[in-house]
Amino acid sequence: MPSASWLSEDIEPPGRETGPAGLTQPASPQTSPRVKSAVSPPSPLPPFGVLHALPRFRVSARSKAFRIRFFPSATAAEWNDWRWQIANRISRPEGLERILRLSERERAALYGQASSMPLAVTPYYAALLDREDPCHPLRRSVIPVADEYLRSPGEAEDPLGEEHDSPAPGIVHRYPDRVLFLVTSFCSTNCRYCTRSRIVGDKSGHPFNRAQWEGAIQYIERTPSVRDVLLSGGDPLTLPDEAIEWLLQQLWRIPHLEIVRIGTKAPVVLPQRVTPALCRMLKRYHPLWMSIHFTHPEELTPEVAQACERLADAGIPLGSQTVLLAGINDEIETMKRLVQGLLKIRVRPYYLYQCDPILGSSHFRTPVEKGLEIIRGLRGHTTGYAVPVYVIDAPGGGGKIPLLPEYAAGRDGDDLLLRNYEGGLFRYPDPLDPGSLANRPRAAS
Ligand code: SF4
Repeated sequence: MPSASWLSEDIEPPGRETGPAGLTQPASPQTSPRVKSAVSPPSPLPPFGVLHALPRFRVSARSKAFRIRFFPSATAAEWNDWRWQIANRISRPEGLERILRLSERERAALYGQASSMPLAVTPYYAALLDREDPCHPLRRSVIPVADEYLRSPGEAEDPLGEEHDSPAPGIVHRYPDRVLFLVTSFCSTNCRYCTRSRIVGDKSGHPFNRAQWEGAIQYIERTPSVRDVLLSGGDPLTLPDEAIEWLLQQLWRIPHLEIVRIGTKAPVVLPQRVTPALCRMLKRYHPLWMSIHFTHPEELTPEVAQACERLADAGIPLGSQTVLLAGINDEIETMKRLVQGLLKIRVRPYYLYQCDPILGSSHFRTPVEKGLEIIRGLRGHTTGYAVPVYVIDAPGGGGKIPLLPEYAAGRDGDDLLLRNYEGGLFRYPDPLDPGSLANRPRAAS
């Protein structure tokens, strides 16, 4: 297996360990990325201090005001550097207290027992959170509350049984022709409802290093049925460009591979990561697809629009993945604003997931009927391009199972009765005896 000299035994995202404004903390066993580099990989970007060379990036008025208020020593160029954003993640309650007026439920979670997943929010995403309202949708998705410690029937640490379907470390092989390839446990911002909260953050037992990557690639090489690889984690786009390129190079040497996909939330929580250099590199490894994790229409900022525009201009088909979350995005109007906004930034709504029953997730989960109601509220009321597929990832490793509202209303003799999006009843001729269609004209063979 060829290897790049920079790819040391261990892998970590770029970033320094302390930051200005007292909002970050030195890397600690609890909060640093799981594995640390013996030798840091070279960065594709210049070191801090020469950031004026970076290409310009759109900055909203809200982001600018936030930077000036809470990171007064940071320059605009630093703010627009994804490495600065990662290095200055808000990961301690004291840092969060400076930015938000914490509720009792939030404070109890932040200062109480160790959470299943560390707190982590990029300064960029923190700027989108409402300072006063603990029920603010984006705030609820990334700030822990005491409900995380409640346990409900059916919840599990690994509800999808991914560990069970793992023939090699880092690989989940569940479906016949494709594998999930987990390449890192690190995310720039940790979502409180994360299906992989068991590995995201600083957890022991899930090392991501060169040996693991090579072992996973060898598994794909010796499994000819695999034609499609989804790079995920953690967030693969928190790796340096060279690491991502190394992975793509190794994968594209495998003759039976037909497509590679990347699953990421970076364009949403760390849009600065989508640099022209990254896009130029990714463009060399088509067919490459990308699934981007969106939660709420308030995430559709000028920065995110620019990131998606760059990826789309690099020829990467973009799809969205959204988890249905109680009190966050479980209203038809909210979801409609999200999916219609996604089309405007060239992202095709792909999946709407029922929230997985991870430990302590009951405050996020909605009844399944809520998801069906949302699909009913979208289908026909807006273009089909905007309507995602609503799925439940079946606990125990059953895979994604699509759920659809019932549009077939029954039969009346040889007619199928159908209900349209407005509730009107329509007939379609569908004889019970297919033989009665035998006299239809046929195309010449
Ligand atoms: S970005 Fe994805 S992997 Fe990372 S914490 Fe959020 S849901 Fe989990």
